Amino acid sequence: MGMGDSAGKVYLVGAGPGDPGLVTLRAKELIDTADVLVYDNLVNRQLLEWAKTDCEKIYVGKESGRHAVEQDEIESILVERADRGLRVVRLKGGDPFVFGRGGEEVRRLDAAGISFEIVPGITAALASAAYAGIPLTHRDHSSAISLITGHENPEKTELCVDFKKFANTGGTLCIYMGMGNLPKIVTDLLEAGQSPETPVVVVQWATLRKQRSVFGELATICETVAAEGLSSPAIIVVGDTVSLHNQVSWFEQQDQQTLADAERRFLNSGSEGDCSY
Ligand code: SAH
Repeated sequence: MGMGDSAGKVYLVGAGPGDPGLVTLRAKELIDTADVLVYDNLVNRQLLEWAKTDCEKIYVGKESGRHAVEQDEIESILVERADRGLRVVRLKGGDPFVFGRGGEEVRRLDAAGISFEIVPGITAALASAAYAGIPLTHRDHSSAISLITGHENPEKTELCVDFKKFANTGGTLCIYMGMGNLPKIVTDLLEAGQSPETPVVVVQWATLRKQRSVFGELATICETVAAEGLSSPAIIVVGDTVSLHNQVSWFEQQDQQTLADAERRFLNSGSEGDCSY
């Protein structure tokens, strides 16, 4: 089959933050009918259960900061399968265009003459705020949202963002991949004049049963996070709206049985999902 007249297509699909109930109907439909699923580490494995029994499932996630499969090879897999006329679903945690290298993959597909579709997903920052009960904007407290990478890749010790520029934006900062660099991020913000009392919340494993959130202030959040043992994957939210959360977390207060039942409703098998990804 020549390029262009191939029936193959690649779908870049946002898998959402974790809870299968938070993927789009379009994502579900595409997973249901995929010939090939190419997925990352932060994709809930329960979503894979929707696929046809003969669907080829290819894991290309990172292990401890290293790429299990190089980016170039991932892109080659997509091109090769689509060239064979297959329906390829490239599943990415959250939204494919937010810190997900979706842009690189689309360029490669475009260059290879492969048709593609992009399905947005709920990005981790939005999910973390919602499930911690924090408005990201508020007429009196925040009129902007910044989505920032704090790069915790062990091979990159340098921050690739100048956090000093993000002090006193008059808005809310949502930091992805920031746990490894939290002390440096906090120091930069304080040095640039951000108040030490600025409220902060760290949300780990947002939307899943194992979600944990820790509230604090900029000056002390590093010690609080260390004491509570929170680690990646987590979103760090910095800004005045964090203080608007309720005393009781609407999500984390639910009992484990309610959460387990909610998780099971999207499983084909009805089996207990362990969410251990
Ligand atoms: N494309 C993804 C982000 C990929 S970068 C998105 O749109 O959400 C990976 C980072 O996302 C993690 O290091 C963490 O900071 C964040 N993340 C992803 N899932 C998360 C979750 N369920 N809870 C908290 N943070 C999460």
